[in-house]
Amino acid sequence: MYFIFEIAFSSNKSYIADLIRAYAKQIRVDVEVLQATDKIIMIFQKKDEKLEGFLLGLETVLPASLFLAQGKHYFSDEKPELMPVDTCHLPLNIAPCPTCQKEMFDVSSRRYYYPFTSCNHCGSQHPFVTKYPYRRPNTSMKFLVSCEACASELKNNALRLDYPLISCIECGIAIRMLDKQSEHLALNKGDFRKLFEVSGRAIASGKQVLMKTAHGYRKFFKSTEVYRPANSILLMADSNGFNDHLMMVTQEFNALLSIERPLLRVATKSDEVKEVYGSSVLVKYPDDGMTMLLARELMNAGLQYISYVTCESDEEADFLVDFDMPVNSQEDTKIFINQDAKLFVSGERILFPALVQNEKNRVTVAHDLACVQIEGESIIDTLDVFDTVETEEVYVLEGESFDGGHSNEHRFEQYKASMMSVLAEHYKVGEKAIGVHFDGTLNFLYYNGKTVINAVPAIPFESDHLWEKIGTLREGSDRLVDNYKKAYPEVWERLNNLQGNMDIFEVTAITLGLDDESFEGISAEALSFLGKGGLQIDTRVKDNRFDNYAFLTSIMSYQLGDVENNFMCYSIYESFGDYIGEIVPQLADKVGTRTVVLTGETFANQSLYGRIQRTIGQYKPLMNKNFPIGKENAVYGALYL
Ligand SMILES: [Zn+2]
Ligand SMILES: [Zn+2]
Repeated sequence: MYFIFEIAFSSNKSYIADLIRAYAKQIRVDVEVLQATDKIIMIFQKKDEKLEGFLLGLETVLPASLFLAQGKHYFSDEKPELMPVDTCHLPLNIAPCPTCQKEMFDVSSRRYYYPFTSCNHCGSQHPFVTKYPYRRPNTSMKFLVSCEACASELKNNALRLDYPLISCIECGIAIRMLDKQSEHLALNKGDFRKLFEVSGRAIASGKQVLMKTAHGYRKFFKSTEVYRPANSILLMADSNGFNDHLMMVTQEFNALLSIERPLLRVATKSDEVKEVYGSSVLVKYPDDGMTMLLARELMNAGLQYISYVTCESDEEADFLVDFDMPVNSQEDTKIFINQDAKLFVSGERILFPALVQNEKNRVTVAHDLACVQIEGESIIDTLDVFDTVETEEVYVLEGESFDGGHSNEHRFEQYKASMMSVLAEHYKVGEKAIGVHFDGTLNFLYYNGKTVINAVPAIPFESDHLWEKIGTLREGSDRLVDNYKKAYPEVWERLNNLQGNMDIFEVTAITLGLDDESFEGISAEALSFLGKGGLQIDTRVKDNRFDNYAFLTSIMSYQLGDVENNFMCYSIYESFGDYIGEIVPQLADKVGTRTVVLTGETFANQSLYGRIQRTIGQYKPLMNKNFPIGKENAVYGALYL
């Protein structure tokens, strides 16, 4: 009789299963831990009192994770048999786990206020890796000699056995604080604590602190109505502040607090946050040791939240907190949540490096990421951590500045690789499918089992001579141009002088007078609309294609009719949803498939996503699970071209 405890886990990342194994070892419990594609299973020989203690203890050492879901337990006469997923030990870039956090705030530990506290299952590891394979001599910590206590942990602490980046205040990275006159080096626990305390108080008193973190330089400050730089992110220092200041559903709250600590756009709620950030804001809960320790001291200084921007080392600020170790920072990862669906929108952190299946002798390159074979494993990571390798062929994204000098180099297009990445993730390579790639422009694709064809390409949009194109669209259009000029002379003038290379979303944002003149700006505005839809924006289909000029004309007429911006933005996405809902079934019928794939960042939008579920939900459209739905999926998809 076996006692089985299983928890749903939707990723091939191994840090949760590894942590469970390490914890079992630490408290000497006999358990077999297996990881399959969608769950982690713990198998016990018998149920005894030790087991109960283990399960209770597990609750305190396991972090919340984006990938973890419900658990269940049962008895079984037979040992469950499953296909284990391939895992290998790749450097992580997530927040510290509960055990490491405890050390950071325990005054008796060697890592009290030490920002680089981490273990085999957590923390900022990837920023210190200079090349593969992942061992200490291949990291920027190679010159730091471990103290005796750390050396002993490498053998005796189950959570840090052979941990490449082991360090503590005694033997680790020194940090220092500088202002215009002086420099303070932190040498012991007291200094480390003091440094963060001073930083927290400085921000509370309205000063700006530039700090080097595992994710590069960040400038921290209190945003005000007067000072709120573009691209500033709301850092929630106190988790109690979430419900006071933001409108979130439980899934969003859980995602922000997960050990992966993604970025998430959320609608604002409190008046003070609304005044500074507007209707919605990108939110972050502290994601590395430096930011986490600062957040603790911000709370002590009475602040629930502040802002930060990612920046360069020479950014102007009142104080600088710095350290000498170089860091290899990754693009942060944004997620999108709609009810129980969780999508990675864009970014590198959390998802990369990734271990993938690759039967071909091929290297792929896209958006500064590469898929390369290391010691028999295919790993996707940033280009600069790889050395030169032997390969039969190289596949490089069109437009990528990469000069590998290989004689067998192929160039590929984004939409093709994106579509293949989804088919590969869902084991549908070789089967016919319809695809919609929506990344600013909208393309309908067909995969015949061999190659991806752009079946209904987007009509090119040129933003120069805009009024001419709108004025001659149909009868009466010239009157609209005149009326618009009278009602919105400034917007009219701007639209009259556009360069030709702007996308339809930028132009729409300018038309609506949004602060953020991009697709993001429209998305953000749409998020604040809480009513029901109903506004029909004309997407006049010419040769079955979306007409950008008809679309803009329609928006302008509504604008003249005093329709609220957020209602309009919401409706824009709804209209795209309706259009997609019209074309997809036609294409699917024509080629005889029910497999529908959606790719591209534009799908990460509540009103569009909701509409798509209604119009083509019957096809159960497939999307990326382990890769971003946006551009970064290409490096994986290119393995299947
Ligand atoms: Zn840890
Ligand atoms: Zn040490």
